[in-house]
Amino acid sequence: MKITCLADLADAARCRRLVVKVGSSLLVGKDGVRRGWLEGLVAEIAAARARGQEVIVVSSGAIALGAAKLGLDKGGRGSLADAQAAAAVGQIALSGLWAELLGAHGLTAAQLLLTLEDLEDRRRYLNATATLTRLLDAGAVPVINENDSVATQEIRFGDNDRLAARVAQAAQANAVLLLSDVDGLFDRNPAEPGARLLPEVRGVTAEVHAMATGGSSSGMGSGGMTSKLQAAEIAERAGIALAIASGLHDAPIARATTQAIGTLFLPKRKDAGRKAWLGGRLRLKGALVIDAGAARALGKGSSLLAAGVVRVEGEFQRGDAVAIRSEGGETLAHGLAEYDALECARLMGRNSAEHGELLGYAPRSAVVHRDQLVLL
Ligand code: GLU
Repeated sequence: MKITCLADLADAARCRRLVVKVGSSLLVGKDGVRRGWLEGLVAEIAAARARGQEVIVVSSGAIALGAAKLGLDKGGRGSLADAQAAAAVGQIALSGLWAELLGAHGLTAAQLLLTLEDLEDRRRYLNATATLTRLLDAGAVPVINENDSVATQEIRFGDNDRLAARVAQAAQANAVLLLSDVDGLFDRNPAEPGARLLPEVRGVTAEVHAMATGGSSSGMGSGGMTSKLQAAEIAERAGIALAIASGLHDAPIARATTQAIGTLFLPKRKDAGRKAWLGGRLRLKGALVIDAGAARALGKGSSLLAAGVVRVEGEFQRGDAVAIRSEGGETLAHGLAEYDALECARLMGRNSAEHGELLGYAPRSAVVHRDQLVLL
């Protein structure tokens, strides 16, 4: 049974496993933790559990909480060093809070601090999957955040929206609910007169991206609509529904699911395990730029042959994940390269019959095999 509307997110038969992401501005107000609100949300999580749903929480707020304790300005986001220090302090309070409030409902919280690389590396991703599965089987509620104190600038999520989508993939969840300080996606800047909340989005197209109006409105988190749409793209390819709804109200899950106030991004297709992971990869080691003929062939399910490659970018090894792009710059696919970057450069534009001689050893059947390739 598929998820087709917001109400389905509260239906245990359609949504057995739900990821709920809570933004910083919801958790932390001017006077510190918004405890009363959080107690209400935790009661909703307990209710979801009671109706047979498994819930994973992705909680922001470590940086905001830690910054307040350390007296750092700009909410602890003035520099990477500030954010890392703030997160180290705030995470203790944050996980303690979740453990305490979930505990009051007889639920056990389990903390997982993940980095981007934990989910980009296939082996570590599978390890995270195993841990999450075991925790859920054991009846715990995983509470996840990025490990901000060790993640460095270039290799961090930086926002918990995409982290939530990747966690949902790893946990094979049915849906993600991003609770934010906005009602959902509007067809233009919500501050403009006549802006309309979109109840449903089928496919995050360029037109949909154009509706996003940039940074976080609260200035506290780092999310904003752009990262939410990227999260929706990851989810939609993995067969996972994703909803954006406002957490500014009490009982926000009920508001989204019973009053249908929010935006639901419907899944496009269901790539299985390895392909979903590959499609959702955020950092790639390089790129293969291909001609129109090769692009057509990929669309029909073929492997990528060297003859259709016109440019090789980056320094990647055999087995690394690369982007496959059109000459116009559009990312068409992600795939695992069968050759390293130098070999790809040597073979590009050349027919398979010449490959053995060019390489000096027996060639592989393709530059990226179709089993290791996912169209975006
Ligand atoms: N991981 C950050 C924190 O705990 C939040 C990232 C975000 O704003 O999405 O403060």
